[in-house]
Amino acid sequence: MMPVLNTILSRMLDLIFPARCAGCGRGGSYLCAVCLSNSPIAERETERWVFSLFDYRHPAIKKALWLLKYKNKTGLAASFAEALSGKIQEELADMAVMENFLDPILIPIPLSRKRHKERGYNQAELICREILRLSKINHLSPPSAPLSLTRRGVGGEVFTLINNILIKPKETEHQARIENRRERLKNIVGSFAVQNAELVKNRNIILIDDITTTGATLSEARKVLRQAGARKIIAFTVAH
Ligand SMILES: [Zn+2]
Repeated sequence: MMPVLNTILSRMLDLIFPARCAGCGRGGSYLCAVCLSNSPIAERETERWVFSLFDYRHPAIKKALWLLKYKNKTGLAASFAEALSGKIQEELADMAVMENFLDPILIPIPLSRKRHKERGYNQAELICREILRLSKINHLSPPSAPLSLTRRGVGGEVFTLINNILIKPKETEHQARIENRRERLKNIVGSFAVQNAELVKNRNIILIDDITTTGATLSEARKVLRQAGARKIIAFTVAH
């Protein structure tokens, strides 16, 4: 179906079936603030440069992410971005000082053009946009880093969001349909490319995605950004 029709249909359905929290069922949103803050945090091991917020096995998180990704419930991006912003701020506070991780560029994990067209949006990009918006409102900055170390954009934002650097020219099988890590890596290898490489040269990068499972997608994205000359690359995901 055309993305526009999809959105219209989804809005109509929202009127007939108002939003209910994926956790407690209360009306008003697809994941209420209480259920979001009570969701269990991700505890399983990831790569050292990957930071995940919630445990994907928790039913409310799983359902909300599914709604955001496949059911047009794009408003959920704001709720997740708010939670992620806190986590990013926490980690950057240390990294700015210890590892000179300054002026990061936010880069969403891209969809292929075909999938983007089908879905009408990239959920990771929506989350990035919300993080950026929040950083302007809250003047998000690493608290222990001197302000002068953090270059601000004209709108007061701390991050630069660039979504035309990392692209996905190659269509791949859904990672979620592939069981083991080796196969997932094989599926994703060679599917990303970097354009406008001069923009990432010696820059610090924050990759954003909704879910990481084996880390294969993030590792591949990091690899191509490295090859393009990026300085340090870390990643944040809503769930693991
Ligand atoms: Zn709830």
